[in-house]
Amino acid sequence: MNIIVTGGAGFIGSNFIYYELEEHPEDRIICLDNLTYAGNLSTLEMAMKASDFRFVKADIANREAVYKLFEEEHPDIVVNFAAESHVDRSIKDPSIFLQTNIIGTGVLMDACRKYGIERYHQVSTDEVYGDLPLDRKDLFFTENTPIHASSPYSSSKAGADLLVLAYYRTFELPVSITRCSNNYGPYHFPEKLIPLMISRALANRPLPVYGKGENVRDWLYVKDHCKAIDLVIRKGRSGEVYNIGGHNERTNLEVVKTILRVLGKPDNLISYVTDRPGHDMRYAIDPAKIHSELGWMPETKFEDGIKTTIQWYLDNRKWWEGILTGEYT
Ligand code: NAD
Repeated sequence: MNIIVTGGAGFIGSNFIYYELEEHPEDRIICLDNLTYAGNLSTLEMAMKASDFRFVKADIANREAVYKLFEEEHPDIVVNFAAESHVDRSIKDPSIFLQTNIIGTGVLMDACRKYGIERYHQVSTDEVYGDLPLDRKDLFFTENTPIHASSPYSSSKAGADLLVLAYYRTFELPVSITRCSNNYGPYHFPEKLIPLMISRALANRPLPVYGKGENVRDWLYVKDHCKAIDLVIRKGRSGEVYNIGGHNERTNLEVVKTILRVLGKPDNLISYVTDRPGHDMRYAIDPAKIHSELGWMPETKFEDGIKTTIQWYLDNRKWWEGILTGEYT
């Protein structure tokens, strides 16, 4: 099969490419990425050595470039990871989020309609459901939870999800959507919570924590996410949404303290900063549907995954230091 993976030079997309190359060496992978600040070609260095891998630098919202790629590669599956993904950036300037996350998704699906496809898969987020109160530990997001996005980022992802489902209903395009909780693991861009805290702790610099650090996220090791997407694109039902989550809820403060403990650094590096506007309180996924239909379960415990991740950042300083200095651009 020919699989186009968009956004494959970013965090989860690159992990997915490595997962596919290992698990399905018979497939050809074409990565389409326009290398924004979040895309890093050095992340794909090992993939470049594989014979059935191709990298193409282009914008998913560029119709001409996308159609040309479809004519050249005749993809069977498209997995769309490409997105502007940082909430704080979406608060500063929402416009590029609408362009990439919504218009780009529309262009990819138009190409799928024009040239034919077995499956278009949209990688979405649990943030489309909004947030849950901290004092209702009994509540979880299911696939039937109403869309109730809070930030320009999550509302652009929600808009894209609605468009995907509309293309299924209106044009019978074979689509699927996964909505995942927060990921962590190798190749995570150092502006995001876990790699940011690791890099700052290693430099003995203050670790900025929003508000009181009470916000709860459901952390999933990135490889578990990749496995879930792989199952959905190959065995999941068309027209369906699948939630993916790890039942690994932690407050931001707990995550930061765990990182300090593993690195042997003191808690007084923590610096509490003014909270993010509209900051979602708690995300928690109910993954019962993907478990019962496709047998997926998270395999990595947070305690193990965080140690593996920290070790990866210790072993791959060149990768993230190049990002912090801007050398990678
Ligand atoms: P990321 O920011 O690390 O990577 C995004 C990639 O997309 C980059 O390589 C970037 O160059 C590329 N890109 C951006 N705009 C593009 C465009 N217009 N055309 C082509 N390529 C473009 O993001 P990530 O954390 O890997 O997230 C991937 C996807 O998963 C996103 O859709 C995100 O919404 C979703 N998601 C992320 C998480 C998480 O915890 N990181 C959780 C759930 C869902």
